[in-house]
Amino acid sequence: MALESHNKQHQLHFLLVPFLCPGHLIPMVDIARLLVNHGAFVTFVTTPVNTARIKPLIDTVNASKLRIQVVQFEIPALEFGLPEGCESLELVPSRALIRNFMVALSKLQTPIEELIESTPISCILVDKFNYWMENVAMKFQIPRLIFDGTSCMNLVVLHNLFKSKVYENVQVSNPIIVVPNLPHRIELTKSQLPLELNPEAHDLRDFDEKIRTSQESAYGVVINSFEELEQDYVKEYKNLKGNKVWCIGPVSLSCNNDVGQRGNKSKIDIDSCMKFLDSWPPKSVVYVCLGSLNNLALAQFQELALALESCNFPFIWVMKEDDSMGEDLKNWLLESEFEERTKERGLIVHGWAPQVLIFSHNAIGVFLTHCGWNSTLEAICAGVPMITWPMFADQFFNEKLVVQILCVGEKLGNEIAIPLGKQENYGASVKRERIVEAIEKVIGDGDGEEKKEERRESVRKLAELAKKSMELGGSSYLNMKMLLEDMERVTINSMSTNIISS
Ligand code: UDP
Repeated sequence: MALESHNKQHQLHFLLVPFLCPGHLIPMVDIARLLVNHGAFVTFVTTPVNTARIKPLIDTVNASKLRIQVVQFEIPALEFGLPEGCESLELVPSRALIRNFMVALSKLQTPIEELIESTPISCILVDKFNYWMENVAMKFQIPRLIFDGTSCMNLVVLHNLFKSKVYENVQVSNPIIVVPNLPHRIELTKSQLPLELNPEAHDLRDFDEKIRTSQESAYGVVINSFEELEQDYVKEYKNLKGNKVWCIGPVSLSCNNDVGQRGNKSKIDIDSCMKFLDSWPPKSVVYVCLGSLNNLALAQFQELALALESCNFPFIWVMKEDDSMGEDLKNWLLESEFEERTKERGLIVHGWAPQVLIFSHNAIGVFLTHCGWNSTLEAICAGVPMITWPMFADQFFNEKLVVQILCVGEKLGNEIAIPLGKQENYGASVKRERIVEAIEKVIGDGDGEEKKEERRESVRKLAELAKKSMELGGSSYLNMKMLLEDMERVTINSMSTNIISS
């Protein structure tokens, strides 16, 4: 009887613990919105620098009387040799300090445990990189869901690679790896392997191991994807995970009208950005953004600049903040007067751009992307075809999905994964002629009208499917409902066990 009345009043209380970098923080905030929209209560763990980034998004939710409670803890950055305010991966000054950042972040475990002691949390949703949350969940016996900010395809490919170890027997004479047991023939070279399998990234291997094992003991996995996008891979991943997989995306579609405020504060005036786009014909502008983590080597940066200058299409290029750009890049930009020379048709953003808002403008013709999973999904949602320039992590697999399986992109054809923070070692692997050729193919005359329209039509159809999946009764909407029902069952079961045993 006591249990029954408890069931009726039961509101799930999720504790969300994001990994601290924009590509993981932003979708986690979107998930927080979705959870409260579906009736749950959310406590969101963050740090001072990241609070400033997410506050506008959280405020819009809380203004509508739904509740996301933000709790802020300090990361001991200075103690681990990191600069003050280094609370996000892209702010870590060198690859050598990534290890320190990961360890400093794990120190959030103690304040999170103190929080749980005074707050009745029903389930934890934690980014896969916060492997140390496994201990917390075990200590308090709280079900733990992993947020894996990538696609089901990537997860299946990784699983099959690990299991088969095909990459161990690659011959120098034939460096191609065919990933076994997939619905498509996915080929890659050893140098394109994601970093956990790539010898170039062995310095962080111990973290990969911890991350992998902590995932195995989790209750289930929440994925920012939608079933219609990668049906075969969703099915396969569910098989691998005993069905405890919920595709609830694209989560960026949860943000309705406030898309200008995602992540950092925009470094350009939004009205002038929109005016710039208004001044160009539909589908004519190249939007270039290589994500929040990538820095290009000077030689590569110059190739990209000269490609944009010579192709004659209008463009928006999102560069790094001036103070996080290398001196050589800054000097070259000044001395070459690139910005001045191209100002009639080029808009340079020095820092953060309102990406989702930019995609919503019909002047955008193509997205030159590093294939980060969030960016890939955001372009799909907006019906924008892509030119793919993967750099590391899941990005080469996302390229396969975009170009080979969905047929909504043109690849630049770069062959080598470049570990984060090691860009200078790789020079200009993508030549300007190839960039110009790809742009011509997607929005110019390079590929013929029919192929161009086919690509555009394919991405337009996916955009519709994405939207439908998030609407009432759509696949992602229903998956979110099923996730909550499952969590209710699990938490009520564990409560009844506690009541019986007390
Ligand atoms: N983003 C943005 N403005 C920028 C750069 C990035 O809004 O100037 C957002 C982008 O929309 C996406 C996220 O930051 O939501 C980047 O995530 P993604 O997975 O694409 O790449 P990452 O930065 O993690 O490599």
